[in-house]
Amino acid sequence: MIVGVHPLAGFDKLLHYKVPERLRDQVEVGALVRVPVVNRILLGIVAEFGEPTDFPVERLKPLTDVVYPFPALRPDLLRLAKWMAAYYACGLDAIIETMLPAAVRNAAGIKQERQLVLAQPLPEDELARLEKRAPAQARLHRFLAQQFKPQKKSLVLSRLKITAGVVAGLVKRGVVREELHRVERVAYHDDWATGEVVPALPHLLNGEQRAAADALSASLAAQKFGVTLLHGVTGSGKTEVYLHAIHEALQAGGGVIFLVPEVALTPQTVARLRGRLEAIAPGHKCVVWHSHLSEGERFDGWLALATGEARVVVGARSAIFAPVHDLRLIVVDEEHEPAYKQDESPRYHGRDVAVMRAKLADGLCLLGSATPSLESFANAASGKYEILRMTKRIDDRQLPHIDVVDMRVEIMRQRGFTVLSRKLVDAMHARFERREQSILFINRRGYSSSMQCRQCGHVEECPHCSVTMTYHRKDETLRCHLCGHERSAPNRCPACSAPDIRWKGSGTQRIEEAVMRVLPRARIERMDADTMGQKNRFRQVLAEFRAGKIDVLIGTQMIGKGLDFPNVTLVGLVDADLSMHVPDFRANERTFQLLVQVAGRAGRGDRAGEVVVQTFSPQAEVIQFSRHADFDGFAEHELGMRRAFHYPPFRHLIHHLFRGPNPEKLKFFAEQWARLVEKELGERVELRGPSPSPIEKIKDQYRYQLWYFTNAPITGIVADLTRLRAGFTWPEDVVQVIDVDPVSLC
Ligand code: ADP
Ligand code: ZN
Repeated sequence: MIVGVHPLAGFDKLLHYKVPERLRDQVEVGALVRVPVVNRILLGIVAEFGEPTDFPVERLKPLTDVVYPFPALRPDLLRLAKWMAAYYACGLDAIIETMLPAAVRNAAGIKQERQLVLAQPLPEDELARLEKRAPAQARLHRFLAQQFKPQKKSLVLSRLKITAGVVAGLVKRGVVREELHRVERVAYHDDWATGEVVPALPHLLNGEQRAAADALSASLAAQKFGVTLLHGVTGSGKTEVYLHAIHEALQAGGGVIFLVPEVALTPQTVARLRGRLEAIAPGHKCVVWHSHLSEGERFDGWLALATGEARVVVGARSAIFAPVHDLRLIVVDEEHEPAYKQDESPRYHGRDVAVMRAKLADGLCLLGSATPSLESFANAASGKYEILRMTKRIDDRQLPHIDVVDMRVEIMRQRGFTVLSRKLVDAMHARFERREQSILFINRRGYSSSMQCRQCGHVEECPHCSVTMTYHRKDETLRCHLCGHERSAPNRCPACSAPDIRWKGSGTQRIEEAVMRVLPRARIERMDADTMGQKNRFRQVLAEFRAGKIDVLIGTQMIGKGLDFPNVTLVGLVDADLSMHVPDFRANERTFQLLVQVAGRAGRGDRAGEVVVQTFSPQAEVIQFSRHADFDGFAEHELGMRRAFHYPPFRHLIHHLFRGPNPEKLKFFAEQWARLVEKELGERVELRGPSPSPIEKIKDQYRYQLWYFTNAPITGIVADLTRLRAGFTWPEDVVQVIDVDPVSLC
């Protein structure tokens, strides 16, 4: 018996091995095995049975060991891995390592203990003889005879005060058996979401939900590949529809993957899934998959899925690789979220991989959003995806009214720069008086809290990364968010020595201070990347907010995902512009998503909600469309622009980054390379660049970039690029990164 194995750990090639007699019944396609490679032992995945075509069979080595007696990578995952390697220009070994958690690869997760049972009780007379000859052995015999189940060996030894030799004596005679048992370490539900209590019983679906749920039932019943886009306004009850479909898939005996953008930020969604499963499908273990798990917890969750003991997993991006059996349904909540794209190798997009995995498993992929990505929307428009729509909020609640405040006028009126407009301050006051709650959102941290000289306009940049440093008021420092470089904030402008250097823009801290000034008696909490690091803190704040102990919650849009707080009647977006004025063709799409999602947090209870959006560009189309939550209008307008400029979704985009310590050398090689690609692939690929990246330097490494636009199938282009790359002589200090379908252009 001979097998082809893909080794992991930087060895991207299929190697063949003999399977020793003793391992024959454990080796299957997808099994994790140990194999000798040169003079090391590496992990690998069995990819196929059969002999190599280019190597004499007699000289093959035997494989060393089988790690788990079942396939660690199910066949659909193995096929998915191959597709990902070809699509994302990445080694198969790296993909497989991404698919198998470290805890699984190391097999460190298995916690076992030795246990003792009485296998063959001795007859009375023999026992009496033993009593005299070896009293310790007799004591062990008597003790085990009284137990109903196997006993932990170490406890037995200490309790009976006997040695391992005593046990060995009886084991040798076959009287006692030593067994190795896996011990379970955790409940599969980890405590992440337990702070939030959410009613578990299903709601009676309303008309729109019913129609959507019925359509999904039909698709599930068909048991073949399909993608459905559920486009429902915020608060229309999408989660309820997901839960319905999940229940149905489980009842039909299938497995389910539920992806959320980030588990830490969506505790409510996770809690709702778990609560519901407990109510409607008791006995179903729900594995929660996220980055805060310990190795052991992750291993146990993985094992429960791999052995079929659990059939549901909820988690972020990487949960798409969970070893779920009989996968029937994949739900991708908030499918438009850029968080689904991994920003390190392998640079895969969780949503796109979800669609592919559903295809390989003949399952249904359900993408849900109030603001679908234009990629998914275009696929629905062309008939590739089915689209279901929910246009009304639950109980016919109104979508909130959106006020757009022109900050140019506001600055004139208040005679100077201000972070809070009169309108927003008044609205917060009113909420505070009525004991209702407000949320203030600001755009991503770090963008705006830079330090600028009011005389010469100088902005402090990181000396290693050519990005603006962020001002942190608490300890009066400037910090670089890319490399962590830190310096104390200057009192005078380093360029012109004017004393007039101040921070500008509106970090969360600054907003917090402004709110404290206008609402001195209010209870205010701030949540941003700094405070989010501590997972319990985040949960605690949300729980306090729910309990009404906080009046105003301030944070970046990161925290706004999927929050559902009925008492929130005001949402303010402090600086809508920041996401608009970035050099990215998706800037409008991101801004639209931000505005609609943020607004969607208001008015979810029985009182109407109000949204105040502050901007310096009130006339911008994207502001106007989002004001009326007019997705179709926005999509039509934006897709028109994308078509005109041949941007995605009308073409694919590949980003090629070169970096190295020497800018001239880098430029030279990037240009040589671009010429080669132009010559070889020019008919199928449009090149833009090479040019310096928007961030020219990070950690003293200069960066050049090249864009490829193409209509041709990606795997073909990637194969050609890989071939050309192999034949091109690169200097050793140049590192390259290829990013297929990048989500962020700056
Ligand atoms: P979305 O995910 O579309 O923003 P949710 O699924 O969070 O909406 O639903 C919004 C709120 O309405 C939640 O509190 C949910 O429990 C409630 N809800 C959903 N469906 C129903 C229903 N059919 N009847 C009553 N309440 C519902
Ligand atoms: Zn830096």
